[in-house]
Amino acid sequence: MNDNPAFGANLQPFMGIPSFMRLPVTRDLKDADVAILGVPFDSGTSYRSGTRFGPRKIREASLMIWGHNATLNVTPLKTLRVVDYGDVSVIPTSIEHTMTAITQTAGEIIETGTTLITLGGDHSITLPLLRAHAKKHGPVSLVHIDAHIDTWEAEFEAVPYSHGTPFRYALQEGLIRKGEYMQIGIRGPISGENDYADARQLGARIVTIHEVMEKGVAAILNEVHERMKGPVYVTLDIDSADPAYAPGTGTPEVGGLTSYQLLQLVRGLRGLNLIGFDLVEVSPPFDHGDITAILAANLVFEYLSLLALQHR
Ligand code: MN
Ligand code: MN
Repeated sequence: MNDNPAFGANLQPFMGIPSFMRLPVTRDLKDADVAILGVPFDSGTSYRSGTRFGPRKIREASLMIWGHNATLNVTPLKTLRVVDYGDVSVIPTSIEHTMTAITQTAGEIIETGTTLITLGGDHSITLPLLRAHAKKHGPVSLVHIDAHIDTWEAEFEAVPYSHGTPFRYALQEGLIRKGEYMQIGIRGPISGENDYADARQLGARIVTIHEVMEKGVAAILNEVHERMKGPVYVTLDIDSADPAYAPGTGTPEVGGLTSYQLLQLVRGLRGLNLIGFDLVEVSPPFDHGDITAILAANLVFEYLSLLALQHR
């Protein structure tokens, strides 16, 4: 492993080959604390696609991250040994085969004791990621930051899986601890008046955007800390951000979180038993000035900083 990852010390952000934070690209996890994994898959998308280009673009945007987190006072790459594991070998025409490949690759990584951070891809990838994590840790406490509940019934009857259904199946499969599932930032027009009631019935605590804006991020974080007793998995859909901050996504919803509120939300997870993270739905073809990818890369860096604090 490279003892001197050149994330700014030796190379300028526009130089070199863009692995995440220009970390070593390897599948050798001996001594690795954290692995970054890309899942360039967008065939679970119901509207406009393009998230298959997300992992590569987030890696490129990550080169602007200089390394020290001044807010949390930690330099994650000094505390943690992090590698870029590359991408899952997805099959763009088969969600079923891709999901199997995701569970397998994720399982191989976390079985070694390495914490996994995954870059999507659309939100369908989170179900196979949760399967892998629940196999290792048992059912997880789940923090789900999104504009959408993603607990819908199958839109396409013959194929139950899409980016609108992962958490219905995760709940039905018992991958999530009872009462320890929060959806934060929920909003927008929906297909039926009972959609939210269905999600609550399945076991979701829905925190709408109105509740976040009225109570404030700190109050929502208090509830997260009160509820989550188990190993905490965090899944962050970039469309939780307002399209003004994250236009590069497939199903944008107006009236969302600011980029600052999202940073606060992730930072505020400090102290929980954090076991895994994914960031999904970045669609570079719809982005402007790479602002969505830059936000995504910085949110991953915040999570990485929390892992460093947890490790220390
Ligand atoms: Mn989603
Ligand atoms: Mn969404």
